[in-house]
Amino acid sequence: MSDYPGPEEYETYMWVVAHPDDLDFSSAGTVKRFANAGKRCILVQVTSGDHGTGDRSFTPETLRSQREHEVEDSAQVLGLADVVFLHERDGYVEANMTLREKIVKQIRLHKPDVVITHDPFRPYAMHPDHRNVGLSTHDSVYPTARDHLYFPEHLEAGIEPHKTAEIWYFGAESPDIFIDITDTFDDKIRALKAHDTQVGARADLADRLRERSAELAKDQPFELAEAYKSVRMMR
Ligand SMILES: [Zn+2]
Repeated sequence: MSDYPGPEEYETYMWVVAHPDDLDFSSAGTVKRFANAGKRCILVQVTSGDHGTGDRSFTPETLRSQREHEVEDSAQVLGLADVVFLHERDGYVEANMTLREKIVKQIRLHKPDVVITHDPFRPYAMHPDHRNVGLSTHDSVYPTARDHLYFPEHLEAGIEPHKTAEIWYFGAESPDIFIDITDTFDDKIRALKAHDTQVGARADLADRLRERSAELAKDQPFELAEAYKSVRMMR
């Protein structure tokens, strides 16, 4: 297993998430830390959160448009190198081959060393989109993106298969990777505040997140963490 570098030694990290603020809540401090270190961080945004409001003045179309702007604002704060919208329908995501083809294509195009997504194996309370995005992403990394006979139209278009070294799950019960976000915690809060339709009114957001990040870092030699469960893929 010694041919795997340390968690911060890779070059390209790709997040695949269900809803527009999922990246920010789970991983914004990590993205900012990695971007600051010159890493390439990519976001694949599966839905645009077009049902995520109690405000009756929105339609799914107007909400989607606003939330995509919010993602782009957050991406600016965090230094994401690229954001890809898959435009799946919020709340309707299914783990099927149609979605898998879209995720596989992004993996083959961007060639991430690490793919980061929702933990689909976490018991029990989960949004179905989180479960289905996590599962589809897992199955996209292995075996679908790496073997050329899956979706041969990619190869015909010049898009080569790709082997990802690791998958990391956020929201996992027993994380084994802890990223120091002490210096990027304030950027995480700034990125979250870009999601006006979601977090604008929550005054205690920073305090709650600081508490949670401190809890995740309780056995680490630093103050605040985001945490992941890693799975190393056969190479
Ligand atoms: Zn979500």
